[in-house]
Amino acid sequence: MSAKTMDTDPGLERVTAAFDEAFGSRANGVWTAPGRANLIGEHTDYNEGLVLPFAIDLAARAAIRTRSAGALRLLSTLGEGRVVELSTHTLKPGHAPGWSVYPAGVVWAFQERGIEVPGLDLALDSDVPLGAGLSSSHAIECAVATALNELTGAGFSAEELVLITQRAENAFVGAPTGIMDQSASLRGRSGHALFLDCRDQSTVLVPFDAAAAGLVTLVVDTRVAHSHADGGYADRRQACELGAQKLGVAALRDVSVADLDKAHHVLDEVTFRRVRHVVTENQRVLDSAEALAASGAAAVAPFLDASHASMRDDFEISCEELDTAVEASRDAGAIGARMTGGGFGGSAIALVPIHHQERVREAVLNAFARRGFKAPRLFTVNPSDGARRLA
Ligand code: ADP
Ligand code: MG
Repeated sequence: MSAKTMDTDPGLERVTAAFDEAFGSRANGVWTAPGRANLIGEHTDYNEGLVLPFAIDLAARAAIRTRSAGALRLLSTLGEGRVVELSTHTLKPGHAPGWSVYPAGVVWAFQERGIEVPGLDLALDSDVPLGAGLSSSHAIECAVATALNELTGAGFSAEELVLITQRAENAFVGAPTGIMDQSASLRGRSGHALFLDCRDQSTVLVPFDAAAAGLVTLVVDTRVAHSHADGGYADRRQACELGAQKLGVAALRDVSVADLDKAHHVLDEVTFRRVRHVVTENQRVLDSAEALAASGAAAVAPFLDASHASMRDDFEISCEELDTAVEASRDAGAIGARMTGGGFGGSAIALVPIHHQERVREAVLNAFARRGFKAPRLFTVNPSDGARRLA
């Protein structure tokens, strides 16, 4: 491990120290995977549509040592030193406690693909905030999946690892999530957003350089915890499935903006609005990718605003705190803003001119205080590299 890596990643020291203390030996290696922010394209992934997320400079790390027996000993720096002990021989959905479902789910999903996973000592550390809509769960899963891919010699492609971690989330954790988050975490690139077609997993890296446009990407973590296992997310998925079925298409991906007039007559009012969000959002993703490539980061701003309005009014997945974050930052000088992630809480992102940054931060904090909301956490993020071995 190079001195430079140690300097630039304090999390590496944290996770190896935790590993050494709990397991009394050195790890074979440390793997890392980032959280993600979605620039645009919300609730389009499970409709086989388009998304434009980026990996962020907040990440999880997994320090791992293989053991010969089937024992799985799992530790997180979140867990006050408590080691969760499981067996690789008896893993099944519903039987791993608390946060251990995420690493255990990945082990299980590798086994399902016919890969023999040895016993493991595994320590996790992450600076991705939990439940903030920045996908701390996939950061953990992708770090573990990248490690297992190497340690077991499975050699899966990034596309296959995407499906394996999706299987872990859907079937082992029980969260009906799509493929966007892990795609960004596994396939993201520094200085770029990842244009992803969720139908065939084809990708294009699109330059996203806020600094070159005199901007920062500000995250407002509302600290309203969302939960994908709750009803709202599943309800929206069902509405989309119903819409596709009634319109006679395989997925809402196959409906274009021009088809919406016709759809209006076929669908009930609520289903129509759900469908309209997905259809117009796909178009906004296309427009955003083009605008970014042609004109730089500032050009994406109007699409962020339109996306937020669509999620607030048509898809109805925003909340007062997210709307406040978006409105206050816009009023104070952000050039575009939207909630990011699955909704019902979590974070908003705003593109803010560097010289307005302090003003925007203050305006958001004040607006939250005035409304009696818990103080949000504010920080900037930058597009970063996807999962990799760190040491
Ligand atoms: P999000 O992925 O948006 O952050 P989720 O509810 O999907 O929200 O995932 C959050 C969960 O992921 C946490 O409740 C915890 O179980 C798990 N998790 C995230 N980071 C860690 C960590 N460092 N150690 C252990 N578990 C973690
Ligand atoms: Mg998650």
